[in-house]
Amino acid sequence: MTVVARQWLLNAHPRGRGIEDTDFRLVETALREPGPGEMLCRTRWLGFDPAQKGWMENIADYVAPMAIGDVMRGSGIAEVVASRDGRFAVGDLVFGTTGWTEYFLTDGADLTRVETGLSPTAVLSVLGTTGVTAYCGLFKVGKPVAGDTVLVSGAAGATGSIVGQLARIAGCRVVGIAGGAEKCAWLVEEAGYDAAIDYKAGSLRQQIREACPRGVDVIFDNVGGAILNDMLGQIATGARVVICGGISRYETGSLPAGPQNYFNLVFRRATMAGFIVIDWAAEFPAIRQRLETFVNDGRLTYREDIQHGFENAPATLKRLFSGANRGKQLLAL
Ligand code: NAP
Repeated sequence: MTVVARQWLLNAHPRGRGIEDTDFRLVETALREPGPGEMLCRTRWLGFDPAQKGWMENIADYVAPMAIGDVMRGSGIAEVVASRDGRFAVGDLVFGTTGWTEYFLTDGADLTRVETGLSPTAVLSVLGTTGVTAYCGLFKVGKPVAGDTVLVSGAAGATGSIVGQLARIAGCRVVGIAGGAEKCAWLVEEAGYDAAIDYKAGSLRQQIREACPRGVDVIFDNVGGAILNDMLGQIATGARVVICGGISRYETGSLPAGPQNYFNLVFRRATMAGFIVIDWAAEFPAIRQRLETFVNDGRLTYREDIQHGFENAPATLKRLFSGANRGKQLLAL
């Protein structure tokens, strides 16, 4: 069985600016027949992450650089449609780094079978990199203890909303920072946050002081820049500052300037640490099981924002940077 696959290729490195449509090029590629041990897979859903902008720029050294003309890198779920004694059977759903292609050939070495009682897309959201990032960043780096105040930026996003709920499960008081009244209402009414702060409403520093009068024990930062600086202004003694992401820098060419308030780390005997979640990859299966149990127990809720149509992949990625996404950004093919 030979197929012609539509593919989105990288067409430019978006350094020093936001992502533009011309950074991608849509092509049609004829794929050969699967060889021995290979499978032909049809991509069913794509998952989107702000880190994809960094990969396009080649700013990150924890993944291989991307060259112009490469199939755009990204996560996805695919169905095995043909197999020549491959690792998985025809009809199996698998997930991993599929890339932005309608079909692909693989030996399956880097793919995992979708095995969940939740909807299959959960392996890209609450049980995917998003969920394990929230789990590892919070528990392994933030080390919350019951009674701590945990402050999360990008709180209404896919990762941030899970961080808040996990911190609640750990017995913490949880405050989230998000853009707009609607997202803030969702945080408190649906995502179990104790309080929410709208950073677009102004005077963020003052709002943080009011919401966290005894200081912040754990910061989980997805945003960086001015928001991180204002959060650092309110840390408690012994605080742990977890740097998960820095989406506010993605429209600029350079890495962000250091926060002015960093010296509070000294006054408050605090620590600040970044992490890359793949360092704990060996633990992902066990963490996924734990997260699925929390969902089944009704203690963890998640939302997925599913756009449609392969041709809309670039526009779907851009939604993360305008804040249009409501939960984990996905695209159904
Ligand atoms: P997400 O939070 O669902 O979506 C991105 C959100 O960021 C938007 O909805 C928007 O929400 C906010 N945002 C965009 N531009 C902003 C700006 N200039 N200032 C403030 N907020 C802005 O995305 P996600 O997939 O869950 O990723 C969250 C973070 O985790 C990202 O920084 C990502 O790179 C990071 N991450 C890190 C690791 C790791 O291993 N360290 C792994 C996975 C993900 P508002 O409407 O609230 O502005």
